[in-house]
Amino acid sequence: MIYLDNSATTRQHDRVTEVMLQYMREDFGNPSSLYSLGLTAEKAIKEARKKLDRAMALPEGTCYFTSCGTEADSMAILGVARARGRRGRRIITTQVEHPAVLEACKQLEQQGFEVIYIGVDRECGLDMEQLKDAINEETILISVMQVNNETGAVMPIDEIAELKQNALLHTDAVQAFGKIPLAKGADLVTVSGHKIHGPKGIGALWTGKDVHIPAFLAGGGQESGMRSGTENVPAIAGFGEAAALLSSEMLGEEPVRKVRDRLLCGIRDEIGDIIVNSPDDGCPSVLNISFLGTRAEVLLHTLEQDEIYVSTGSACSSNKKGQSHVLKAMGLSDREIEGTLRFSFGRYNSVGEMDEVVDKVKKAVERFRKLGSFR
Ligand code: PLP
Repeated sequence: MIYLDNSATTRQHDRVTEVMLQYMREDFGNPSSLYSLGLTAEKAIKEARKKLDRAMALPEGTCYFTSCGTEADSMAILGVARARGRRGRRIITTQVEHPAVLEACKQLEQQGFEVIYIGVDRECGLDMEQLKDAINEETILISVMQVNNETGAVMPIDEIAELKQNALLHTDAVQAFGKIPLAKGADLVTVSGHKIHGPKGIGALWTGKDVHIPAFLAGGGQESGMRSGTENVPAIAGFGEAAALLSSEMLGEEPVRKVRDRLLCGIRDEIGDIIVNSPDDGCPSVLNISFLGTRAEVLLHTLEQDEIYVSTGSACSSNKKGQSHVLKAMGLSDREIEGTLRFSFGRYNSVGEMDEVVDKVKKAVERFRKLGSFR
C-alpha cells in the first residue's frame, strides 16, 4: 500500500498506540478521582500538555485539549465572538478555510455578525490588500489558516498579526503542525492529533496569555473550566506522544520535500496537460495537480486498485461530491477541478515509492484520456 492522503489522516505511530493501550488497559482511572489510579491519569494529561507545548513552541499561553481540530476551531471562533461581540461585529476570514472555520463563521452571520471572506489568487495566495482594507475598529476576530489543506499554500500569519489592530488572530494550524514551524503571531492556534500520526478524536486550542474566551462546555470544570467533560486520557496521552515524536523521529520538512519533488518531477516529465495548483513555496506535505481531460474520482478508484490512496480534494467535507470551494476560489474552471488530485505525504512515505506512483498515475490518466469519455 502507498498511502498518499496524509492531509486527510495519518497512520498512527506504533508508539502512540502502545501509550494509548496503557491508559485503556491498566491506568484507566478518571483524572478527577482522588486515589492513585486517578492521579496517574491526571499526571498523564499533565505530561501530554507539556509535550504538546514543547512541540508547538509558541509563546506563553495555555493549551486546552478538545475532541478534535473542528471543536478547537469552534471554541476559538464562537468564543471570541461571545467574549467580544459587544466591542465589534466584524469577523474576517478567507474563502479557502476548512469547513470547521467556515461553518462556525456562518453560524455567527446568522447571529448578526458581519463576516468578510478574503479571496485568493491562482496560487492560493491571500489577497493581502483586501485583507488590509477589511480590518477596521469593528473587527474583533481574524481567522486565517496557516497551511491550506488542499493546496499546501502557506498563509502569512505573522504578517497579518502586524496588521490586526484590536482584533484577535486565530489560525487553524491543523495542517501546519508537525510540518513547518507554527507562526508565533497568532492569539489562538488550533491543532489536531490525527494529522501528526497521533489519534483521531483529539485536538487542542492554544490561547495566548492575554486571551480570554468563555468556557466552551459547562460542567465539572475540567481543562481549567474551559472544556468540561471527563478527559479522553488515552487520546490525550497519545497526542502528547505523537507531539514528542515530532521532534525526535518524525520526518522533517526536507525529507518530505524530497518525496514531493520526486513525485512532481516524475509527473511533469511523464504526463502532459497538467496544472500544478500547489505553490512552489507551499508546505511540502501537499501536492495538488489537475490532470486535464480526466475525472479525478475515476483516477482515484483506478489507483485504489493498485493500493495507492490519494484524494480528490478535501476528505474532511461531509459534502464529498461537491466541488472544492478552495479550487473555485482560486479561479479554476469546473473541468479543471473535475480532474484534480491531491497527494499528501507523511512519515511513512519514501522517495523510492514515488516512481511507482508516477507510473500508475500515468497509466490511469492515459487510460482515461484514451477512452475520451470526458473530452
Ligand atoms: N482544519 C483543517 C485545515 C483540516 O485539514 C482539518 C481536517 O482535515 C480540520 C480543521 C479538522 O480537524 P479534525 O478532523 O481533528 O476535526
